[in-house]
Amino acid sequence: MKEETTTIRPFTAAAFNQYLAEHKLMTVKCSKCGGVYAPPRAICPKCHSEEMEWVEASGKSKLAGFTIIYSGPTFMVEQGFDKKNPYVSGIVELEEGTFISARITGLDMSKPAEIKVGTPLSADFVEFGEGEAKKTYLAFKAIH
Ligand SMILES: [Zn+2]
Repeated sequence: MKEETTTIRPFTAAAFNQYLAEHKLMTVKCSKCGGVYAPPRAICPKCHSEEMEWVEASGKSKLAGFTIIYSGPTFMVEQGFDKKNPYVSGIVELEEGTFISARITGLDMSKPAEIKVGTPLSADFVEFGEGEAKKTYLAFKAIH
């Protein structure tokens, strides 16, 4: 299962999710122009180069925008989120310079007015489910 770490994984969402399961937040960097992307892209949108490489992100980031979700997709409802227990979906700016959307954890949902753009964040890997059905997804945790 684990011996494929030396081979380059394809630049797909599936590979990105596989890295998440290993608690790694990976970006894809263009070797030609230095552009950094997450989720991954096989072709650089800036210079159209196909010379991409996986680069692990530090997870250091800040909140660039957010929405409070009171009625989420089934996946979130299954985890107990609803009108009475909303969650925050944010646009996160990674220190590597790319933006990614993810759930934001560690916020005081009883005081939504205190959630601020610019809040420093770190990568958080949320595991949900058991055994075969276990999934790891990316979230970002507010640093207080
Ligand atoms: Zn490029």
